[in-house]
Amino acid sequence: MPQFDVVIIGAGMSGLAAGIRAKMLGHENVAIVERHTIAGGLNSYYQRGKRQFDVGLHALTNFARLGEKNRPLLKICKQLRIPYDRLQLKEQRFSSIQFPFGEINFTNNKQDLITSVERLFPDEIRGLHGLIEYLSQFNETDLERPFISTRQELTHFFNNQNLIEMLLWPLLIYGSACEDDMDFGQFAIMFKAIYQEGFARPLGGVRTIIDLLLERFKMLGGEIFFKKEVKALHHDNQSCIQSLEFKDGETWQATMIFSSVGQNETWQLTKKNNALAPIGRMSFTEAIFVFDSLTAAQSPTIAFYSGHASAQYHRPEMLFDKESAVICFPNNYTDCEYKETVVRITHPANYDLWKNLSPQAYRKEKENVKEAGLALLSKNYGVDATRLLFHDVFTPLTVERYTGHQAGAVYGSPHKIKNGATPFSNLFLIGTDQGFLGVVGALLSGISMANLYLFKPTSHQMQVPNEL
Ligand SMILES: Cc1cc2nc3c(=O)[nH]c(=O)nc-3n(C[C@H](O)[C@H](O)[C@H](O)COP(=O)(O)OP(=O)(O)OC[C@H]3O[C@@H](n4cnc5c(N)ncnc54)[C@H](O)[C@@H]3O)c2cc1C
Repeated sequence: MPQFDVVIIGAGMSGLAAGIRAKMLGHENVAIVERHTIAGGLNSYYQRGKRQFDVGLHALTNFARLGEKNRPLLKICKQLRIPYDRLQLKEQRFSSIQFPFGEINFTNNKQDLITSVERLFPDEIRGLHGLIEYLSQFNETDLERPFISTRQELTHFFNNQNLIEMLLWPLLIYGSACEDDMDFGQFAIMFKAIYQEGFARPLGGVRTIIDLLLERFKMLGGEIFFKKEVKALHHDNQSCIQSLEFKDGETWQATMIFSSVGQNETWQLTKKNNALAPIGRMSFTEAIFVFDSLTAAQSPTIAFYSGHASAQYHRPEMLFDKESAVICFPNNYTDCEYKETVVRITHPANYDLWKNLSPQAYRKEKENVKEAGLALLSKNYGVDATRLLFHDVFTPLTVERYTGHQAGAVYGSPHKIKNGATPFSNLFLIGTDQGFLGVVGALLSGISMANLYLFKPTSHQMQVPNEL
């Protein structure tokens, strides 16, 4: 039976980062197993004809310039020994939060958010400075702190509910597993990541990041196995995983196992019947459009649109909420490899309703997602739908099918296990359900959990592990 020191389940961002760190921390036999044929997980890529698309990526958060101190993205590059330049980051032009009562813009210069808030909410500017000051002292990486309601915290800083809704909207839709609220620690992470550091996109899209991670892992001697789906995690004495059983019939032994597939999903592999945590309720539709000309050149890079007067961040009562959307124009980064105009539109969606559709109704409703997206683009940006060359639509069922996340819950369960520990002494969670979300969050998760549990004091290769 094959024997490994470390096996990582899932070749998403957290799994790849954990694999690299495991090798760098001196572990010999490190394997990543992935049930698909390519890496990337929730944030992968695919090809249609001559066109290549990112599955998810709108934006890499936490933009940093070389030399900027204490920036998570630079710490990730350092921990993984990936040269920053090779990410080829292209910055956003500006992004926009759009509600019926007004618009706030922000860029990778943190002062621009302050200026824009001051214009729309002059009476709230002291509150914003107070919040920024408070966040600068706040330790958002504390793994022990219990859930604190952000909605409640923000009332200590602001009187105007409209501003609270506007500030919350991008952070909720880009990284909350909870409906209509988020943990204040997560808010602090996201506020810094989005409003103070900002957005960029690697030239070449998410594949640029994935290829760098794969190259680094293989260069260190790690092994990656595709089409290798874990079917069960066997345990004799209830406290330790003895072996991994794969769908192809193989069985392996591993000293340490890291799972990025989710909390309940991992638990199910151990054949336990009870659920460890509630299944996440937030899933999305995503429409991708390709137009033949640059039809929306004055548009933001990313628009966080709400046709509602408040942030409606919950599972909608209809198939998808066309009045809540993120609209991403990748061509509006400072450089982009696309020769045509690409637009991506994301709406909150109801998994159960999608699940219960007949195949015929499912196809028809996907068409409705397309039509809603085109109508929004026409209304907000004057985009001419007759210039459409190609489109594709994902639903919560697509997310579930391609990633294994139950109910297509992109941000996993609202209950996070911040220290990654499970009832089994050699099994740890990384990624979405450990608690750090998004591409940068998942990378940080893989790094920090590997540092926490795989640090070997005798290794000569190693560096101080908990820089993060
Ligand atoms: C449509 C969409 C848009 C997004 N946009 C952005 C964005 O613009 N910016 C951003 O920062 N984040 C974005 N995200 C979120 C980001 O993609 C995720 O937070 C992050 O990639 C999660 O990484 P992970 O490693 O935790 O998990 P995953 O990516 O889910 O990785 C888990 C891996 O495990 C594999 N797996 C599952 N079960 C098994 C099994 N039994 N055996 C073997 N392998 C298994 C899966 O195939 C998958 O590859 C987006 C997500 C989606 C879905």
